[in-house]
Amino acid sequence: MIVIMEAHASEEQVAGVVDRVESLGLRAHPSPGSERTIIGVIGDERPLEPELFEALAGVERVVPVLHPFKLASREFHPADRVITLPNGAQLGGPEVLVMAGPCAVESREQLQATAEAVAGVGVRVLRGGAFKPRTSPYSFQGLGEKGLLLLREVADELDLAVVTEVVTPEDVPLVAEHADVLQVGARNMANYSLLCAVGDADRPVVLKRGLGATVDELLQAAEYVLAHGNTDVAVCERGIRTFETSTRFTLDINAVPVLKHLTSLPVVVDPSHATGRADLVGPVACAGVAAGADGLLVEVHANPREARSDAAQALHPDQFAALMRQLARVAEAVGRRSA
Ligand code: PEP
Ligand code: MN
Repeated sequence: MIVIMEAHASEEQVAGVVDRVESLGLRAHPSPGSERTIIGVIGDERPLEPELFEALAGVERVVPVLHPFKLASREFHPADRVITLPNGAQLGGPEVLVMAGPCAVESREQLQATAEAVAGVGVRVLRGGAFKPRTSPYSFQGLGEKGLLLLREVADELDLAVVTEVVTPEDVPLVAEHADVLQVGARNMANYSLLCAVGDADRPVVLKRGLGATVDELLQAAEYVLAHGNTDVAVCERGIRTFETSTRFTLDINAVPVLKHLTSLPVVVDPSHATGRADLVGPVACAGVAAGADGLLVEVHANPREARSDAAQALHPDQFAALMRQLARVAEAVGRRSA
């Protein structure tokens, strides 16, 4: 359940509710809003009656949250959450944030050329995998720590923030040392020890939906990160597995407005992994923004034919520049801005 405090309830009144929650063996997550504080009650609250809290000073009302995710729910945090990155770029704000770069960091030359191309058309966040979770053990697995160092160096030269995937809990401190945003990949959405580890980290998280996960399961995975105290979480629709074989996955476009309804966490769309085809990335990216996405994650490669992973879906810088122009018009049509 969530406890909604009266507008302008005092700090002592908030502390009183927190004490009461904790005395019942539950955890309290106060979220101060511009008008009122909302306190999430986390734990096994089944035996609790709302009256337990309704009588406390400063409490306006108690609302049961029927979803299994509480902190991620829009009831708990009605206003859209905004994640601000060190270079000032925002995810969840009025501007649609485009995160772009290669699937994997391959070399300084490849990364630099790609980063310059995307930064040149307004991108503020560089993506690139250093640790790659590949379906086949024989595929390129990424440059590891060397890739992280390259990402940081190249991004700093261009005032870009870095988003990169972390695949094991043990690697979280290392990746957090070099990256601004930690990505949890689709294959790891239900890796609960990894979710706890990124929840303990002091970096925003982009959490991708599992290939066979429901929206509800995605939000429960986000709940793990939030319950560990990290409130900078974005969820990413990157396509799910269906019977359709003409594309790599099927982008669940419905998930975008469904997520926007259920949660105030920023919603990202990844048209690259969803389609697996460069010719489809543009239209699907536009659809994502039209449906209400706060951000996009797009694979771009300076020389797609030479990409060591996901070559078929990588946009050439010229294709990407054209897409950015198109996205600006779509964003404007739905009351947003883009670079
Ligand atoms: C990626 O973005 O690099 C990636 C591996 O994506 P996903 O986890 O969605 O497959
Ligand atoms: Mn990829």
